[in-house]
Amino acid sequence: MKYISDNFAEEVNKLLSITNKIVIVTHANPDADAIGSSLGLYNFLLKKGQNPVVITPNSYPEFLWWMPGNKNIINFSEDKKTAVEIIDKAQIIFYVDFNETTRIDKLEKYVNKSNSIKIIIDHHPLFNDKVDYTLSNDSASSAAELVFEFFVLLNNLSLVDEEIAKCIFAGIMADTGCFSYNSSSPRTFEIVAELLKFKINKDEIVSKIYDNFSSDKFRLLGYCLNDKLTVYPEYHTAIISLTKKELENFNFKQGDDDGFVNYPLSIKGIVFSAFFIEKDKNVKISFRSKGSFATNKFARENFNGGGHLNASGGKSNLSFEKTIENFVSLLPKYKNELDENEK
Ligand code: 5GP
Ligand code: MN
Repeated sequence: MKYISDNFAEEVNKLLSITNKIVIVTHANPDADAIGSSLGLYNFLLKKGQNPVVITPNSYPEFLWWMPGNKNIINFSEDKKTAVEIIDKAQIIFYVDFNETTRIDKLEKYVNKSNSIKIIIDHHPLFNDKVDYTLSNDSASSAAELVFEFFVLLNNLSLVDEEIAKCIFAGIMADTGCFSYNSSSPRTFEIVAELLKFKINKDEIVSKIYDNFSSDKFRLLGYCLNDKLTVYPEYHTAIISLTKKELENFNFKQGDDDGFVNYPLSIKGIVFSAFFIEKDKNVKISFRSKGSFATNKFARENFNGGGHLNASGGKSNLSFEKTIENFVSLLPKYKNELDENEK
């Protein structure tokens, strides 16, 4: 569903002309779209004469650190005091690449307490009616694509430059798996065409994100595929799971598991993939699917989560083993829906 608040452009433009304490917040465990869309917006607001600050709830992988403006990002988990001071003084807080404040973990309480104007720019199905302005479209490829639409709506395309284009391209490219999913809309490619006019080096950006893994991450991937993959052919489902101990064995760093959940979908006949990772207080689960199997519905109904149709996530407070047992026991209930999608 597409939703844009009434008079969005006029009112946001006016607000931007009378405020200068602007914060951009993105979701925990930021990925390339979270950082690309946030920094695209950050660099744009800088050019508009603002003094914006991007705050992330926690750290993110080194292969995203090249993006222009990255060195000015404040990581709440490392610099709580500064982050809280800035949020307390904020006049506007942008929510980028998320719309439910549960997705910003420990930042949630400070953001909810703030009296600032809240503006969502996001591509997840929308449930939040507690904000002031919304630019949301769950058919958009990425939040980065919508940040570009934000520039268009504000009639400020002339401010876009190479630096901004790099950030937006990185977000769109990564959230579509290099244009392999979420990217059937001509609009996505029109925007990419606009970005390429800034002479950004597309191949270099792809390489910075995909050819920049640590050897630990690469070996962990090998281990997952060889030792940790379980296939349930009758349910067209495959899972990968990792315990804390296994993560330690591979010197796990935040982001090292990015993309692992997608691999099982490359197996013939598999339409649903789940990836379980043991955390300190719970088990985090990622879901992916092909076709119309609604992983967000599955996540909402069973794992207190949500997200997009084909990419979602959730959590479990059961033990690691019980979480997986529970997941497997749920599959028969969804057999019809899973069967329908098998190609
Ligand atoms: P990932 O598997 O990459 O962590 O998350 C994929 C997508 O699932 C995210 O973009 C987000 O939409 C959604 N998601 C992941 N975890 C959660 C969660 O705990 N709650 C909700 N509502 N959505 C989640
Ligand atoms: Mn995204």
